[in-house]
Amino acid sequence: MNGSPGSTGSVSSHDAVLVGAGFSGLYMMYRLREELGLDVRGFEAAGGVGGTWYWNRYPGARTDSPYSAYCFSWSEEIAQEWSWSERYPGQQEVLRYLEFVADRYDLRRSFTFDTRVTSARHDEDTNLWTVDTDTGETVTATYLITGVGLLSAPNLPPIRGLDTFQGELVHTARWPAAGVDFAAKRVGLVGTGSTGIQILPSIAERASSVSVFQRTPNYVVPTQNRPLTDAEKADLRARYQDIAKQIRQHPFAMPFTPTGQNALDVDEATRQAVYEEGWRQGGFHFLFETFDDLSVNEDANETACEFIRGKIRAAVRDPEVAELLTPRGYPYGAKRPPAGTGYYETFNRDNVTLIDVSDDAIEEITPTGLRTGTRRFDLDVIIFATGFDASTGAFTRIDIRGRGGRALADKWRDGPVTNLGFSTAGFPNLFMITGPLSPFANIPTCIEETVDWIFDAISYLRENGLTSFEAAERGEQEWTGHVTAIANMITAGKGEAVNTWFAGANIEGKPRAINVYFGGANAYFDTCRAVAAKAYEGFVLS
Ligand code: NAP
Repeated sequence: MNGSPGSTGSVSSHDAVLVGAGFSGLYMMYRLREELGLDVRGFEAAGGVGGTWYWNRYPGARTDSPYSAYCFSWSEEIAQEWSWSERYPGQQEVLRYLEFVADRYDLRRSFTFDTRVTSARHDEDTNLWTVDTDTGETVTATYLITGVGLLSAPNLPPIRGLDTFQGELVHTARWPAAGVDFAAKRVGLVGTGSTGIQILPSIAERASSVSVFQRTPNYVVPTQNRPLTDAEKADLRARYQDIAKQIRQHPFAMPFTPTGQNALDVDEATRQAVYEEGWRQGGFHFLFETFDDLSVNEDANETACEFIRGKIRAAVRDPEVAELLTPRGYPYGAKRPPAGTGYYETFNRDNVTLIDVSDDAIEEITPTGLRTGTRRFDLDVIIFATGFDASTGAFTRIDIRGRGGRALADKWRDGPVTNLGFSTAGFPNLFMITGPLSPFANIPTCIEETVDWIFDAISYLRENGLTSFEAAERGEQEWTGHVTAIANMITAGKGEAVNTWFAGANIEGKPRAINVYFGGANAYFDTCRAVAAKAYEGFVLS
């Protein structure tokens, strides 16, 4: 699969270096190579294409954007030749899809796999990036383009004794391709975010026992996944472009239409009926197709929280366990809303135990299990579903140095600063696909839009004989200020107290600063187009 030359000792030069072969890297590679004819050198740390879907192979992993949104819309061939099988495609199917895209356009040959970019520095005299990899290769390029993902740098909490465990210890985002054998094993699951919620039911079916270590309970809505009908598959093939247009009008880039009604404007019976229907539809339908004020009005939001709390009490037989699973004191949406399949019901199984570590933290991993402040647990397997150093983490793990040798990690010491997520001042010709402070919304759509924008910007540079592109300081200050102001106005910005990655609050020592834009993907796409139409106002081109 590794079609490019490996370490040669000599420095090869290219038009662009592209980091990552997930949704972002594949589409960016296609456009730059096939449409602009650029010499693009791709690097990918994984052994193949797929990004998130390559690494997160844990059982139960699936999208929770619907199939019609979680795909590309730029290719007639892909739309006609590919067919999804489920409403929320599983990890294996999404990975097969990305492999299909890579093969359909012969993209693998432009990537070097099993190769991690370790550092990149910009040279002002030559106007080139010099990029080093962990295989000892060094290359240069005019443009450095990152498709490194929003949630790709795994977070393994710094708990004492991690390397002493004698059983199997695995992070869900580094799941072994050969799988993990749970049969007759005592399993500990640390973390109850979107990932922990997806993986638990599958483990519980196979393991002899599962101890779930929960720090903060979540509001879990059922996915309501099911196979697609032939009519639904045919409809997507026929209407994929219309659906893509509709998605671009939605604040979270979903194929939904806001309902135009507010939770506090209807009577209790109507409200409950609307929530029941949202629950029956499942997943993000519950948040986006019930009431429009859930994200902006905390009293309205509390009515949704109460509805979900009632569902937890109804699903979980033991009232004490139900109470422990019940989230309180923070709004629905302050943490990224997870979707699950049989999550709450799994706690009715005899082999599943919920352990509250909110006041009794995991203090140590021992050779035989783990220890909280007051209790010891003997385990054969420990699964860390503990999330990611989101957004900036994938950047700061590479030593990126811009003008004057300044490190990007240093520039973002107090939180990320970018203009529209694309670029940051002092780092010329560094283009970030869905970079920090771009919208948190259905990711494939955000990727398509931002790849197109970067493609247009690079085309513009070349057509106009320009050689350098970067955010203007004023432009990035205004955008960063706007992103922060929006976050302070909505429920998703109220999550610092519950360790949300939105605010960098899930990582010890990370600056508490908003990482993503919540002002609406639709508004963001309009802004991006307007900025491009004004010759990239807010950016410096020279
Ligand atoms: P996450 O949402 O950050 O959840 C991490 C979990 O680990 C939390 O329950 C956290 O508890 C717990 N945790 C962390 N450190 C701990 C410690 N030292 N002791 C005990 N518990 C600890 O991570 P994630 O579940 O992997 O999800 C991350 C994001 O990935 C999601 O928000 C979503 O955007 C994306 N994702 C998407 C899908 C999908 O689309 N289908 C699936 C999975 C993930 P606290 O809550 O108390 O911090």
